[in-house]
Amino acid sequence: MKLTDISTIKTLFEKHGFSFTKSLGQNFLINPSVCPKIAQLGGAGENVGAIEIGTGIGVLTRELSARCKKVVAIEIDKTLKPILDETLADCNNTEVIFADVMETDLKKLIEEHFSGMEVIVCANLPYYITSPVIMKLLEEKLPIKSITVMVQLEAADRICAKVGSRECGAVTAAVNYYAKPKKLFRVNRGSFMPAPNVDSAVISLERYDEPPFRADNEPLFFEVIKQSFAQRRKQLANPVSAYFKIPKAVLCEKMSENGIIPTARAEELSMQDFEALYRIIAQYKKS
Ligand code: SAM
Repeated sequence: MKLTDISTIKTLFEKHGFSFTKSLGQNFLINPSVCPKIAQLGGAGENVGAIEIGTGIGVLTRELSARCKKVVAIEIDKTLKPILDETLADCNNTEVIFADVMETDLKKLIEEHFSGMEVIVCANLPYYITSPVIMKLLEEKLPIKSITVMVQLEAADRICAKVGSRECGAVTAAVNYYAKPKKLFRVNRGSFMPAPNVDSAVISLERYDEPPFRADNEPLFFEVIKQSFAQRRKQLANPVSAYFKIPKAVLCEKMSENGIIPTARAEELSMQDFEALYRIIAQYKKS
């Protein structure tokens, strides 16, 4: 069964009475070259356990199943179950869990299903929760080797921008704290059914074995990043001093001492600058 074939998909939908739920970001891949590429570049292999987020009708799931030792896929939409029972019937190493990925205990899932395996995440992510899913995968410090996901092109460009460039945003700095993001390839909108209004891209996030720095208080570090970008085109000292209740003059003096220009905007800061800014605020809150 060729799951990228439009007539096959339509037959499956009719047979099982399925219709798309737009609010769940259901744009299914119909370009046959994309899923094998995601699986290969995502590190699928013989002793690998793969987690997939959002199966749709199982087009990427099958590619992962064919290459990996085991696949556990998480899909929120239970109305896909009868279709998946059919499309994944011969995938004996694959299990679909019907749940919201944001509410799934991934640490437990990995312990239960992937003992002794290298674990990867591969997905064509539902666009409405791209950043929360990525941050969940990174923040929970899961024993995952790599994350390879398709996201909207704009999100890919933002996540993979250089920290300290105009294209950089809070999510760029947050992701760079944990991993090295890389844009792998672009996928045009015609590769999906239904076709979205924008193109997409596949990105990979390689977690650092040894992170460049570790914040004692990570929630505070991420709040510092978020507040720095609160008014991204303006001087960050204003929102940061207001939010953390530090007199602006004190903050600017400390920024200068740490080599950060006090009039800087968030998009001009490097990761080392964010680290210094975090330390200034952590120190001030203690005093
Ligand atoms: N992998 C399939 C493909 O490439 O054709 C489907 C990708 S589609 C962009 C996203 C999938 O994620 C949909 O099947 C949708 O139902 C599912 N989904 C949406 N929100 C979810 C959530 N919170 N947890 C798990 N799956 C979700």
